[in-house]
Amino acid sequence: MTYQIQIMKFLNLLLLLAVSYRSLAQKEALYEPIEYKKAYENGTRLRNGLPGKSYWQNSADYVIKATFDPSSKIIKGNLSITYMNNSPDSLNLIVFKLMHNIYKKGAVRQIPTPKINLHDGVQIENLTFNGKDISKNSINIAGTVMKVRLPGFLKKNSRATIDLDFITPLPKTSGYRCGTVDSTSFFAAYWFPQVAVYDDIFGWDLDEYVGFHENYNDFSSYLVELTLPSEYNVWATGEHLNVEEIFSNEITKKIVASKFSKKPIVILDEEDFRQADGKDNTWVFKADNVPDFAWGASDHYVWEGVAVKNPNAGNTCWVQSAYPVGAKNFDLVIDVAKKSVETLSTGFPGMPYPYFKHISFRGTKGGGMEFPMLANNNVQPDTLNTIVVTAHEIAHNYFPFMMGINERKYGWWDETMTILMESYVRMKNYPKHKLHGFFNHKTSFSHYAPHHEILPLITESSHMMKQLPIMVNNYVKGPAAMDILANIIGAQEFYDCTKEFMQAWAYKHPTPYDFFYFINNKREEHLNWFWDAWFFSYGYPDIAIVCATQNMRYLSVHLENTGGLPVPFRLTVSYMDGTEFDEDFGVEIWREDLKNTDVRIPISGNVEEVKIDNRYSYDAVEGNNAFLLKK
Ligand SMILES: [Zn+2]
Repeated sequence: MTYQIQIMKFLNLLLLLAVSYRSLAQKEALYEPIEYKKAYENGTRLRNGLPGKSYWQNSADYVIKATFDPSSKIIKGNLSITYMNNSPDSLNLIVFKLMHNIYKKGAVRQIPTPKINLHDGVQIENLTFNGKDISKNSINIAGTVMKVRLPGFLKKNSRATIDLDFITPLPKTSGYRCGTVDSTSFFAAYWFPQVAVYDDIFGWDLDEYVGFHENYNDFSSYLVELTLPSEYNVWATGEHLNVEEIFSNEITKKIVASKFSKKPIVILDEEDFRQADGKDNTWVFKADNVPDFAWGASDHYVWEGVAVKNPNAGNTCWVQSAYPVGAKNFDLVIDVAKKSVETLSTGFPGMPYPYFKHISFRGTKGGGMEFPMLANNNVQPDTLNTIVVTAHEIAHNYFPFMMGINERKYGWWDETMTILMESYVRMKNYPKHKLHGFFNHKTSFSHYAPHHEILPLITESSHMMKQLPIMVNNYVKGPAAMDILANIIGAQEFYDCTKEFMQAWAYKHPTPYDFFYFINNKREEHLNWFWDAWFFSYGYPDIAIVCATQNMRYLSVHLENTGGLPVPFRLTVSYMDGTEFDEDFGVEIWREDLKNTDVRIPISGNVEEVKIDNRYSYDAVEGNNAFLLKK
């Protein structure tokens, strides 16, 4: 190498550094929509990722009295809500969600549903505001959103009472997350009009429910009376307040015993099923500080329960399963559920399970669907999927039920965090059961990421109508992004930071921005180069070896990040004599220049080939992974 070439190289390096620092400076601030900027200016949230002094959220007390007719599958109810406006705004509008309008004829739906489930929409009657009738002209229902124009203002720091009657037809087959399981078993979700969230960033949540996207609710209290024919048993969110009215002394004793038993107790067995007698039972449930209320009912489900220590919570968690005799693999569920609550409480996230109970209910088709304290789980074909679905739906009680995130906008976030927790449970308790196929993000991300439909993670979920980008972002790209974050900050720090973040935001409405800023603040460094590439930009994982040269002591390799996502990589160097060795490079190598990097590896012989080992990290295109050195 001549002196002139060295000077040229030095000047090039200076130029490269200048460009790198400029691009770094440009990426110092993450893109913030104007609504976020206003929230930070108002001090409801801070750019250190914590809630601000001005943080507020609204809540409601729901009193619901409903009857369910198993033959017509119709729920008729009365809803009385006391809504607390803690916002600094006076509201002249209250927004409700009528989620079952997804089954209204002509409604926008992401997944088709059998015609038999279609109806004329949720019926609303006798709506009053603080005791005054609201005329039909003041009610606007479009899709699943119902806007109620108020006769006056609901001022800041004041409460109002809203009363209404509703009729919700439950799907006659397995619907979206609810419906008919068999002729006498049902799962009711999203079944009553819920007040939409009015939050400090976006105001009223007006995002429609069209199928894939889940929910966003305030933390509220529920007092629910459900009347069903007396042969039915009901499993629901909350505490059952009238156990003795429904069950015999013998069953009541088993219920109590199972709440303290270390081994599962069969509470209801086949001989305990009640015959129809033409009468009804009214079941009363109460739940506080929960974002939703769901229930399942059947006249032929067995019921098991067991107590799980809930460390640091000073109590036990009552873990249960309810299913028809012979439901495939459901006999395994109670043990998996017990281990899930134990492991989540003590390991990752290492916070006490948020509720005093959890029920895995054999529900409608699909994988499973989470509700506070209750999961609607389909039967699974094998042990692995039974473990995964059971643990997954239980883990959702942290995300999104303890962390009240907006799943219509950030569905990937609650699925991603839940997958990490579910995987933690699986690896701790069932290490031999390994995921394969789509849900193994380690292998599937490289395959799906380059697809043209895949969007930046921060894209609002409700803007995605196609299934592929939602599935990939929620279950594959999100977990891959967290893998990379753990690669940067270390696994233990990732766990510690996540736990601290959850403690700061428990029972509030955090956003992904809060999480990004929280990690930045904890690390006392900007990871914006990483957040920007993985969450705000298009890109897929693919690194190419452009060229490689060697001298006596070093192999120099020039690599290009052709996909645009910063990922770690492993280079395998093969000598002419057939021996080889690996050298690992962390993701931070892309911190200053996301496009190009040069690495220098000490060597001790003649190198034949250098290649990227795409089993080590994510890499979409194999054809550009190897470079043969010419001799
Ligand atoms: Zn999930």
